[in-house]
Amino acid sequence: MIDLVVASSNPHKIRELSKLLEKLPVRLHSLTEYKDLPEIIEDGKSFEENAGKKAKIIHNHLKLSVLADDSGLEVPALNNEPGVYSARYAGKNSSDKQNNELLLQKMKYLTGEQRKARFVCTLCFIRRDTEIFFNGYSEGLILEEFRGDNGFGYDPLFYVPSLDRTYAELSDDEKSAISHRGKAMTEFKNYLVKLI
Ligand code: IMP
Repeated sequence: MIDLVVASSNPHKIRELSKLLEKLPVRLHSLTEYKDLPEIIEDGKSFEENAGKKAKIIHNHLKLSVLADDSGLEVPALNNEPGVYSARYAGKNSSDKQNNELLLQKMKYLTGEQRKARFVCTLCFIRRDTEIFFNGYSEGLILEEFRGDNGFGYDPLFYVPSLDRTYAELSDDEKSAISHRGKAMTEFKNYLVKLI
């Protein structure tokens, strides 16, 4: 049995991962189980830098296998903004609504192909001397108005043409099957299956 610390306190991410790994001999631990953890400042310039930093700090502290993630939205027509600033695009402690509204405002004059966007998820796994990264991507378009009530972050603006729905109009399972996070987690799962 492998004890794996997921470097996140987000219950949604832990649930998604535990569903995916349920048949494997892996025991997941959330950061909420540990006290006096070192502070982690996500100030990297890339998703990889942030995920790697988080995984390293937690691994050095707890001496257990760790999986850390970082994710966000990239709009090529905006020079890949909001990118690593996705959670705080409209400023420190900004709400999802404020971030979404800023995105809409910046994209006000963009049409057609210019509204293309992609979600990126980078996972960093550290176990003993091994550090390995997994990436997942999902492509879509940014709508001009909100659609749907599920999910979080930029979900109500992220439209998937092949499904004719936004991420906020998908169930958790439907989203997980096509999302950047679902894809990166599946890559990780495939790696674990070989490792075990
Ligand atoms: P983090 O990886 O949890 O730090 O996510 C960073 C930010 O990226 C979130 O606060 C959201 O704004 C955005 N984001 C990441 N993944 C998603 C998603 O699946 N849907 C909507 N927004 C997301």
